[in-house]
Amino acid sequence: MSVTVLTGAGISTDSGIPDFRGPQGVWTKDPAAQELYTIDNYMADADVRRRSWIGRRDHAAWAARPNAGHAALVELERAGLLRALVTQNIDELHQRAGSSPGKVIELHGTLFHVVCMSCGQRTPMREVLDRVAAGEEDPPCPDCGGIQKADTISFGQSLRPLVLHAALQAARSCDLFLAVGTSLTVQPAAGLCGEAIDAGARLIVMNAQPTPYDDYAGEVVREPIGQALPALVKELIDAAG
Ligand SMILES: [Zn+2]
Repeated sequence: MSVTVLTGAGISTDSGIPDFRGPQGVWTKDPAAQELYTIDNYMADADVRRRSWIGRRDHAAWAARPNAGHAALVELERAGLLRALVTQNIDELHQRAGSSPGKVIELHGTLFHVVCMSCGQRTPMREVLDRVAAGEEDPPCPDCGGIQKADTISFGQSLRPLVLHAALQAARSCDLFLAVGTSLTVQPAAGLCGEAIDAGARLIVMNAQPTPYDDYAGEVVREPIGQALPALVKELIDAAG
């Protein structure tokens, strides 16, 4: 059996990283923030960039540690059942938990690298934040002077075609598609569920709140991910063994 997993912010809340669209979500509590963090505003407004660097510096991901949900997906991979781990998260907690980087498809990029919007140069985030700490409010690219940004997908930015392609391939070539901790309201991530079902896969949705794909799922799990995911992975491994 092969399992493709899609994870969203809900798997990282146990690690202290707030989600976006849950009851206590970042966008739920402050819808205006979503408007501010568009790519157009970022490129046009130095003050948005200054605030964004502070947000990156203060992001909960720096201090976060992987939790039982992340660990369960490492077990799934070790059992030889993981086709791919597609994530909407930018926190790298899957890799830090021990998932192979080659198995992780980061749909929305990573907080831990910076990319130059002019020349594409990538730099570790830590190096750029050191410049912020030294007094630069909006550090330009050292090579070309261009505007730099976290290597994440902002509102208004397209996903990287190769990353999206890999995610689609993984959704279309699994026996089970498992959506964990995602509201399944953001495209094209949510559409991966439909792709998997169309290709004949079974769908399991594990999320605290209802999702638009619950009616298409063979199983819907509302229990906390930290307990429910390790239990489900054990079931899958036992069934395969
Ligand atoms: Zn550059």
